[in-house]
Amino acid sequence: MMEFLHKRHARYFKFCMDSIPGEYTSLDTSRMTLLFYAVSGLDLLGQLDLVQDKQSVIEWVYRQQITSELCDGDLSRAGFRGSPANSSGAPLNQWDCSHVTMTYTALATLLVLGDDLSRVDRAALLSGLRALQLPDGSSLSSLHGGESDMRFVYCAAAVSYMLDDWSGMDREKTREYVLRSMRYDHGISQGPLLESHGGSTFCAVATLALMGELDSALTEQQRDGLVFWCLSRQGLGFNGRPNKQEDSCYTFWIGASLRLLDAYQFVRTDLLREFVYSTQDPITGGLSKWPGHGADPLHTYLGISGLSLAGQEGLKPIHAALNVSSDAVEVLRRAQARWRDLPPVKAVD
Ligand SMILES: [Zn+2]
Repeated sequence: MMEFLHKRHARYFKFCMDSIPGEYTSLDTSRMTLLFYAVSGLDLLGQLDLVQDKQSVIEWVYRQQITSELCDGDLSRAGFRGSPANSSGAPLNQWDCSHVTMTYTALATLLVLGDDLSRVDRAALLSGLRALQLPDGSSLSSLHGGESDMRFVYCAAAVSYMLDDWSGMDREKTREYVLRSMRYDHGISQGPLLESHGGSTFCAVATLALMGELDSALTEQQRDGLVFWCLSRQGLGFNGRPNKQEDSCYTFWIGASLRLLDAYQFVRTDLLREFVYSTQDPITGGLSKWPGHGADPLHTYLGISGLSLAGQEGLKPIHAALNVSSDAVEVLRRAQARWRDLPPVKAVD
């Protein structure tokens, strides 16, 4: 079996970071998630020192925040966007609005870099979340033409959990949406009547966990069924659906679901490791979805955070519901303690 190429993966993430042109105009809206994978990946590897100018990265993230000042009275647009709308820092236009996945990954990135979140406009962000939730309990990704499914429910829950305030979400409707998305085969889909999937199962389980309702919301039968569905995903690695090829990203999606459901001890970590190691690129570093497919930042991050769940030596422990290191969660706890001494903020319509 191949060994774990710790140093090469650090170099791979460093390369991903350096190839993110911080100041250039781009409509590449996923740049924030790419930054998150690279920074948080270096953190898990214990190599955050490779980020030479953490402060400038922090400043870049804050420049993507659409605060109440920039919203011009319409807080429904508030949150983080994925990249600059323009390079000059000129005022945002009326079409500029946040994306809930970018808000989640922006906050997570700030925490990983040790920022205390003191410049986060919490009231505005919570109002932005509130504008995204639909009557059926699901959440839109973004106000303008966004999709709505379990991915964005999870991101909204992660943001609410981090901000330590649920006024931006109707938790009862959220819970009902999750429960309506549980399927006949015991897995969970992106929404009612769709196909069970490893990614949506994680998003649903983590949402319940972040709301503190994982124990109360599920019957014993539903919980056992979920554990059975997740464990049935393992060959060597995990797949995301029955009869699909194993894929390194499910090392985290399925692994974290099982950890949250208190059933990780049933995972064959020896087999899992063998599969994830086989997806490493020995030349460039990084992990691919399956052996020989070509490394990408998402699979590299999720493969490594999944190995952390499996107790991999040399990796920091991970918070299974937030998908950041326990060190980043320590930074979060300090921010939350400080907020509790301040006057409360609330989401507004
Ligand atoms: Zn994948």
